[in-house]
Amino acid sequence: MPGPRRPREAVLDKLKPVITKRWLSPGAWRLEVYEQLDGYKALRKALKYSQADLIAFMKESGHRGRGGAGFPVGMKWQFVPDDGQDHYLVVNADEGEPGTCKDLPLMMNDPHAVIEGIIIASYAIKASRAYVYVRGEAIHAARRLRNAVREAKEAGYLGKDILGSGFDLEVVIHSGAGAYICGEETALLDSLEGKRGQPRLRPPFPATHGLYNKPTCINNVGTIAAVPHIVLGGAEWWKSLGSENAAGTMIYSLSGRVKRPGQYECSLGTTLRELIELAGGMQEGHELRYFTPGGSSTPMLSADSIDVPLDFDNVAKAGSILGTTAVMVFSDQDCPVVACWRWIKFYAHESCGKCTPCREGNYWMVRVYERILSGRGQMGDLNLLESACKNLLGRSFCGLGDGATSCVTSSLKFFRQDYLDYIEGHKTPLFDAEKIGAH
Ligand code: SF4
Repeated sequence: MPGPRRPREAVLDKLKPVITKRWLSPGAWRLEVYEQLDGYKALRKALKYSQADLIAFMKESGHRGRGGAGFPVGMKWQFVPDDGQDHYLVVNADEGEPGTCKDLPLMMNDPHAVIEGIIIASYAIKASRAYVYVRGEAIHAARRLRNAVREAKEAGYLGKDILGSGFDLEVVIHSGAGAYICGEETALLDSLEGKRGQPRLRPPFPATHGLYNKPTCINNVGTIAAVPHIVLGGAEWWKSLGSENAAGTMIYSLSGRVKRPGQYECSLGTTLRELIELAGGMQEGHELRYFTPGGSSTPMLSADSIDVPLDFDNVAKAGSILGTTAVMVFSDQDCPVVACWRWIKFYAHESCGKCTPCREGNYWMVRVYERILSGRGQMGDLNLLESACKNLLGRSFCGLGDGATSCVTSSLKFFRQDYLDYIEGHKTPLFDAEKIGAH
């Protein structure tokens, strides 16, 4: 009889490699190996469904988008009107959220899973052309996807009359130019059309007026790569992998003060305590103080939320957003004011400049942070930051402006004293006020 389980084994059960299962198979990015590992079986199965049945199946599976918003995938596919116009599928591979690193390893290690998912999704929405918008810096990922497209085409999985089904599809891999804002779906569409990447006014939504003003479905790489697994495993199986109110697995990108940062694919609803244990624990001498559940655009949570199941609903109840599940772990040695200053600098730099609240608000917040961190802060600065956030949240043209406020408001809620310590002179200034021109 085996003895009682040790906690370590219990937590290892949390690992559910589904989307990442081929990552450790040598050469899985090549078609020959991919096919040996069940590659393109899901496509053969999906092509036997009618488009309506495939959409109904995806709705039944409870699969939700993995790009941040968590929108139900089947419903998104259904929104694309079946009106005889040209349709497009666009895959958002412009991963740029600070802390997020799940799509790049996916494209590098398992590019055919992305291509297979694209073919199935395109078939479901009746798109004859699909685009993958890859972040400009990720030249290696774009190259690998292009190779996968070539292999798939030569094998009859792409092009005319795919596997004798009568369905035609071309896939184009497009490299962006490295702007964070192009991860916003309408800015991505403008960039894809050759324009400057800036968000569009909505409505109309991309489902009816998207790329080249045609019906377009935009899915994230992680969302699409899960599709072949769901088609093969079935809707009930996918639901059983997750928690009560969240279907499937999720790749949690763990970074910061843990011993083994990296990607951990677990059931949706795994807690931070379990993730830290999977990552070998906190680094020596570091104690958890705060974390982001889904990248820098999601409000930080304090160590008190260590046992919150990291799924869409429970993270929302805790006061944050699941986002891209980029879990950045900070310790008692990581000043939250400094962390926020760095993030706000990032948002100020990446603001596309289209709307005033974001363009001006982020610029001025950087100046206020620099005044505080150089020891010249005033008591009114905290109100100034709060007021700037009020004028950004809900008044910005797109989610970048809203997201930028998350770290400021949440850090002021949990760690106000850290700000006051700089203002009252209890903490050593981070830099020389004269040198950076803070006043
Ligand atoms: Fe551009 Fe920022 Fe306005 Fe978005 S919120 S449109 S990024 S200026």
